[in-house]
Amino acid sequence: MSFSSMALNRELVTLLSELGYSAPTPIQAQAIPVILAGQDIMAGAQTGTGKTAAFALPILQKLSDSPVASGGTGETVNMKPVRALVLTPTRELALQVHQSFTKYGKGAGLNTAIVYGGVSIDAQADVLKAGVDILVATPGRLLDHLRRGSLTLKQLAFLVFDEADRMLDMGFKDEIDAILKQVPSKRQTLLFSATFDPSVFALSKRLQQDPKLIEV
Ligand code: AMP
Repeated sequence: MSFSSMALNRELVTLLSELGYSAPTPIQAQAIPVILAGQDIMAGAQTGTGKTAAFALPILQKLSDSPVASGGTGETVNMKPVRALVLTPTRELALQVHQSFTKYGKGAGLNTAIVYGGVSIDAQADVLKAGVDILVATPGRLLDHLRRGSLTLKQLAFLVFDEADRMLDMGFKDEIDAILKQVPSKRQTLLFSATFDPSVFALSKRLQQDPKLIEV
């Protein structure tokens, strides 16, 4: 299996070879084609397996294939609506995921932003209002922004849970429930978790439609 044999565009394949990625990791080989085909996935993968690129690459490709005109339609508070949201349990993971989107999205013409708690909310709100395609967020701070009206998720196409088990262990269930009320039902949902305990399956059942189960 090679990156060029997947349905990834030439720009991404070139970038990956420049980064020295000679072949997809097992999670990438299994997840990327399924995500590109539009299916939900539930993937068991630890950090270090290349799981971030497994969701970032197909999301970047699909979003750059279907650009949204900037300037807004009057229906949104943001200059561009958020089309991909990655939820992470911690600020550290959010920073890593954001860094990966920036690295792989070089040249894709998409805006990526990050929001997490413990820092001023106003500067984050200004960034969101200016227009963001891909948002990486911790659940509590995202909810604060939704309540303040600094963004809408009405045009969300991709919802990603990274380290879903840890998010549930950390007690983010109520925040997740509140966020889910604001996302459209027609979307692709990608769930990544190091472990699959019953609470993760229950979350998948609520969130996903016919997910492909991937374990590496
Ligand atoms: P992750 O599991 O997403 O945290 O990724 C772990 C590390 O593997 C990161 O430093 C990536 O830059 C790197 N990586 C991801 N995919 C590949 C690949 N196909 N070949 C080589 N390195 C990779």
